[in-house]
Amino acid sequence: MSIRGIEMHYYAVCKRKLWLFNRGIGFEQQHDRVEEGKVLHEHAYGRLDKEINIDDMAVMDAVDGEYVREVKISSKMEHADRLQLLYYLYLLKERGVEKKGLLSYPKEKKTTEIVLGLDENMEVLKALDGVQKILEGNLPRYRKLKVCAKCAYRDFCESGEGGDDV
Ligand code: SF4
Repeated sequence: MSIRGIEMHYYAVCKRKLWLFNRGIGFEQQHDRVEEGKVLHEHAYGRLDKEINIDDMAVMDAVDGEYVREVKISSKMEHADRLQLLYYLYLLKERGVEKKGLLSYPKEKKTTEIVLGLDENMEVLKALDGVQKILEGNLPRYRKLKVCAKCAYRDFCESGEGGDDV
C-alpha cells in the first residue's frame, strides 16, 4: 500500500480524518487554511527548488543543500508535522538519498532540525503499520478533539455519522 505524506500527518492528528481522506471524502481544498498555506509556501522558498515530489506520495516544500524543508502555518500540530517530515526522510533514505529535515514556523520564528535516526526510523515503521490498520478497517468513531474546530470535516463529523472504536 502506498501511503502519502499527508496521510501520515492525518494519522497523527485524527484517525477518522485519515480514513475519510483516504476514501476520497475530502473538503480540504475549500478550506481557508489550505489557501493560507499555499501563500506561505510561495513566499518562504523564493530562492530554492520547490516542491520535490516522490512518486506522488510525498511532496516536499523544498530541498536546501543537506536539508529537506517544510514550512507550516502554526506549531499546534508539531507532532504530526514532525512525523510527516520523518516519513519524507524515510522515503528518501529508501531511495538512497540521506537528508536531514528543517521544520519551520515563520510566524512563530521557530525552526527545528529533524533527524532520522534508528529510533525515528522505528517510529515511522510503527506509524506506517498503524496507518495501514486504520485504512483496512471501518470508519473510526467521532471523538471531539481540539483540532475539530478548524477541521474541514467538522460538519460531516458533527452531523452524526457513526463509526467504530479503534
Ligand atoms: S472534525 Fe474532528 S473527528 Fe472529524 S475528522 Fe476532523 S479532527 Fe477528526
